[in-house]
This record gives sequence, structure tokens and C-alpha cells, in this order.
Amino acid sequence: MRPRTTLVASDLDRTLIYSAGALRLTGPDAEAPRLLCVEVYQGKPLSYLTESAAALLPRLGAETVFVPSTTRTREQYRRIRLPGPPPEYAICANGGHILVHGEPDEHWHRAVAARLAEESAPLAEVRARLLATADPAWLLKERTAEDLFAYLVVERALLPEGWVKELAEWAGPRGWAVSLQGRKIYAVPQPLTKSAAMREIARRTGAERTLAAGDSLLDADLLLAADHGWRPGHGELADSGWSAPHVEALKESGVAAGEEILRRFLRAGGRAG
Ligand SMILES: [Mg+2]
Repeated sequence: MRPRTTLVASDLDRTLIYSAGALRLTGPDAEAPRLLCVEVYQGKPLSYLTESAAALLPRLGAETVFVPSTTRTREQYRRIRLPGPPPEYAICANGGHILVHGEPDEHWHRAVAARLAEESAPLAEVRARLLATADPAWLLKERTAEDLFAYLVVERALLPEGWVKELAEWAGPRGWAVSLQGRKIYAVPQPLTKSAAMREIARRTGAERTLAAGDSLLDADLLLAADHGWRPGHGELADSGWSAPHVEALKESGVAAGEEILRRFLRAGGRAG
């Protein structure tokens, strides 16, 4: 067997897996793809991929170093049960944690935390700003994740235009980035990146090539760091017209884009590719 020299780092939410509200099934109901539920939350189904996508994942896991790369906390990540072999590596908390066979690498985490303390304003300062400026009229939840970053769940219809931009302008000089994804507004320290974690895993596995996919601004650094990438036809990157020469913009959106991304990964990185 040829050594697995291609590393595939993929975002999960709205890239590979989709909630009911993000599926974008536009065809006739009778022709809709069958879906596999891969996440249950509080006893209810939450995230899906198509059955065809589900059939591709075991191949991807066997033929490449497949690294789920998510902003989710470790706890939120562990709810997801993807088909295929359990990944040897996973990136959680936007790069704040690397899981090795499901267990956090504490050495990595300490190094990241030290870097954040040096280069970004403290989480408490950003959180105070969020709480001081968010309006209870549209703020549904305020959360911190892994003591690394913060996010708000908001009523999108009531969120004033310009609020996110204003927050981003305040956060930038303090070393923080802001990302709006569906009903969530993330505030994340700029040095907390999926790309740094991907580079570390590529180093450890000796991967010769890296492929990536993602839909949001928090995935931009991951896409830029990879040798080749794909972004779906929906999401923050698509909406903002973001592009890079080695990143292909797919025309598919919703859960169909997730299936197409897996096909592209296999074509470019699988043994037949
Ligand atoms: Mg995403």
C-alpha cells in the first residue's frame, strides 16, 4: 500500500455536515437525496450528510490523512459520528485543541494558550465588550468556548446591520477576528487558527500535500495554508466574494456541496487520483 501522504483538513459545519436549516434542498421532494443523521443533540437529530457523501467518507479515511477541522469545542465535536474509521487527528476549538486518537494534546494546547496571552487582548475584555453592546432584543445566548473564544447566538432578523462590522473594527486592533455564521457571531483571537494546527499535523504525519475545504471567514487561513482547496457556493466566504488562486469555488450549495467536496478530495488526494 502506498503511504498516505495527502492530508485532508476539512471544516465540518456547513462544509461536510448540515443542519436541517442549512440543507438547501431545492429540487422536488420526491427526488431529494436520502440523508444520514450524524449528530443528535438533546435527543433530536441535528446534523446530516447525504447517503452518497456518507459512502465516500470511509474511502477518504482509508486513502488520506483525514483531519476534521472545526471551531466546535471538543464536547460539541464528540457528538458528531461520521462514517469511516475514527480519524487519528482532529482539530477543535479553531485550532486550540488537537485531538490525537480522540485525546487532547496538552502540549499543543499550552503552546497555543501562551501565544494568545502574548498576542491578543484577554477573552474577558472581549466578552465584556460583547455583553455591553449586544441588545437583549436580539441576543439569545452568550457563550465562551474552551476558555479560548466567545460566541453569541442571535436572532438574525433583528440583528442591526453594521453591528458585526463595528465589532470587527473594535476587535481587530486588539488581535481578535469576528465571523458571522448563521445565527452565531464568533469572536476569536487572530492567532487561534486551524491552519497552525494543520501545519503541526502535517509535520507529525509527514504529509507531502494538504487539501482543505471550508465555508466561513474562520476557514480562510486554512484554505490559504493548504496546497489546494474548495469552498461551497454558500456561506460567509461565498457571500463576501472571497477567493484565492488555488481555492475552487463550487457552484453547489447546501448538503449537495458537502458531497461534491468529498468527491473533489478523493479525486485529488485518493489513491485513484
Ligand atoms: Mg463551517
